[in-house]
Amino acid sequence: MTYQIIDHEYDVIVVGAGGAGLRASLGMSEAGLKTACITKVFPTRSHTVAAQGGISAALNNTGDADDWRYHFYDTVKGSDWLGDQDAIEYMCKNAIDAVVELEHMGVPFSRDENGNIYQRQFGGHTIDHGKSMAKRACAAADRTGHAILHTLYQQCLRYNTEFFIEYFTLDLIMDENGICRGVIAWCLDDGTIHRFRSHIVVLATGGHGRTFFTCTGAHTCTGDGNAMVLRAGLPLADMEFIQFHPTGIYGAGCLISEAVRGEGGYLTNSLGERFMEKYAPNAKDLASRDVVSRAIAIEIKEGRGCGPNKDQAYLHLEHLDPKIIAERLPGISETARVFAGVDTSKEPIPVQPTVHYNMGGIPTNYHGEVTKNSNETVVPGLMAVGEAACVSVHGANRLGTNSLLDLVVFGKAAALRAKEVVVPGTAHPQIDETITQEIMDRFHKTRFANGKLTTGKIRNQMQHIMQNHCGVFRTQKIMDLGKEKLNECAQTLNDLQVNDHSLIWNTDLVEALELQNLMLQAIVTINSAAYRTESRGGHARDDFPERDDQNWLAHTLAWYNGTSVSFDKRPVHMYTLTNEVELVPLQKRTY
Ligand SMILES: Cc1cc2nc3c(=O)[nH]c(=O)nc-3n(C[C@H](O)[C@H](O)[C@H](O)COP(=O)(O)OP(=O)(O)OC[C@H]3O[C@@H](n4cnc5c(N)ncnc54)[C@H](O)[C@@H]3O)c2cc1C
Repeated sequence: MTYQIIDHEYDVIVVGAGGAGLRASLGMSEAGLKTACITKVFPTRSHTVAAQGGISAALNNTGDADDWRYHFYDTVKGSDWLGDQDAIEYMCKNAIDAVVELEHMGVPFSRDENGNIYQRQFGGHTIDHGKSMAKRACAAADRTGHAILHTLYQQCLRYNTEFFIEYFTLDLIMDENGICRGVIAWCLDDGTIHRFRSHIVVLATGGHGRTFFTCTGAHTCTGDGNAMVLRAGLPLADMEFIQFHPTGIYGAGCLISEAVRGEGGYLTNSLGERFMEKYAPNAKDLASRDVVSRAIAIEIKEGRGCGPNKDQAYLHLEHLDPKIIAERLPGISETARVFAGVDTSKEPIPVQPTVHYNMGGIPTNYHGEVTKNSNETVVPGLMAVGEAACVSVHGANRLGTNSLLDLVVFGKAAALRAKEVVVPGTAHPQIDETITQEIMDRFHKTRFANGKLTTGKIRNQMQHIMQNHCGVFRTQKIMDLGKEKLNECAQTLNDLQVNDHSLIWNTDLVEALELQNLMLQAIVTINSAAYRTESRGGHARDDFPERDDQNWLAHTLAWYNGTSVSFDKRPVHMYTLTNEVELVPLQKRTY
């Protein structure tokens, strides 16, 4: 079947209107590049809106002698030395300007008594290389992402970014030379199909938390951009590194921000013990997330879990001044009331580790350019930023508040690079029609899929396999079994049933396309996890409990050809960009 295609031409196409996509769009538009931003949800409904705790920058507003070099050290250590130190330097050094810039754009940050941006403690943020805790997280109450996203959207409108809202991007247009020439998207509102040509496509499509059963991410976090990259025959990096947030609400999975512990909240087990004292004697409840998540998992495994099934921990904030909760954590008490039926001034919140963030994704350099092999050869015309990308500043474990920072710093960096490489208004080459046809064939096949299994059924199965076989603790045996089950589950996509064949507001078809995207990433994730035979950051293996720098001080690159996953390794950048900061040599990571 042929579809009528509506053509558009832009200098730059940004796919995604979360914090990363909007910051990139704003920079591109400001630089005079004709820019369109395509998004499957209304911009201010992107998952960034849910970010609670803050955005990190060593502003030193509390006078605690914070410095961007401490931020750099903490981030390298937090990443368990898998983060690229050049990219981390770039991010931490630019953090201060980035946050001040947001403030000037109009982000309504909370204020301290001197009228400066309010800063709170967060896990893994220290001064003097771990000697004492820093107050580095800049916050707008517990709605920091909301504040940033709305401000960035307004700024994009100010600089005339053109928005294509509620357009679902199907795939990249890659020419025969491996150059990205644009994207094809489906307008959910009127059913039309659009071909966008551009000199640069920026993928800012967010994370893929929904490969798992419990996650803090929105239902729209299906990593569509990552799947487009895999289908284009390009690799994803470090997909085994998934962050489990220690404090998801038991059952519901909704996030209770680390800010709660930053303001003085703490965890207990069924014996009423503050068990974090045992696992992280210095940082205690504010150790980094992988450490706290594993501690909860061990307490549960050893029979000291709370609740009727002994499978949760308690998070206490009853002892905090109600005024502080009302002022600094208003959203948290509401979330706890709605999703756990708990009054936080009287009772603890039942929590369990929940999938929260994807450290892995589309490999890029610190200019946002996508790279395709261990030599870091750039893919012409393709960039990626935000949670979809793997720069890699988070390495094996992301520190809280470093993602919002990553979005704005590298969103801007991508725009700076685009300004250097694109001359506004340059003509576009012809696109071979067969490329469009192939993309539309896949779309068509899914639209009329007439098997017996619904999307919900297959998705549920995939999510449980990932939850049970690729969770907080991993072994070869558990993962190999998971790989087998997942392959069988992926086969059932051939028996997919899509009941609604229309093109207008067809959520059945949207979810089917998202499921296909999720499945590719689930396969690559579990295979990458089975491939890496060490424990590092968020990737904890019972059968290989130690970090192995000899063999694994490297990023995983994974390709999927539809039947098997192949791998290569790319060395970690153990160098900095300038001599303003000292390389952090390998050390054991303790808190
Ligand atoms: C509950 C929660 C709290 C968090 N709190 C913090 C915090 O306090 N501090 C911090 O630093 N980090 C926090 N994080 C992490 C951080 O918020 C995210 O990593 C970050 O917001 C991701 O931003 P993004 O721009 O990459 O993607 P998103 O905000 O997820 O946006 C993705 C965009 O891509 C678009 N898109 C996706 N697929 C398609 C497609 N096929 N076609 C068209 N458009 C598409 C979507 O419409 C959307 O606009 C939190 C995360 C969660 C889930």
